[in-house]
Amino acid sequence: MRVEVNEDCVSCGLCVDACPEVFELGDDVAKVIVDVVPEDAEECVRQAAEDCPSESIVIKEG
Ligand code: SF4
Repeated sequence: MRVEVNEDCVSCGLCVDACPEVFELGDDVAKVIVDVVPEDAEECVRQAAEDCPSESIVIKEG
């Protein structure tokens, strides 16, 4: 699984709290700090994508 954060991010920090091994707060938007999401982090990435208030987390399976 790969994941991206788009420009609609409002930097709420939710994904960083939920999944610190994958997301980090950048200057304007959260950023993804891994190329491929580790298998044991996939669930929290899915949860963060569901909970993100601006629906900015885009999951790319595969
Ligand atoms: S949960 Fe969504 S809006 Fe909040 S920091 Fe993460 S990507 Fe941005």
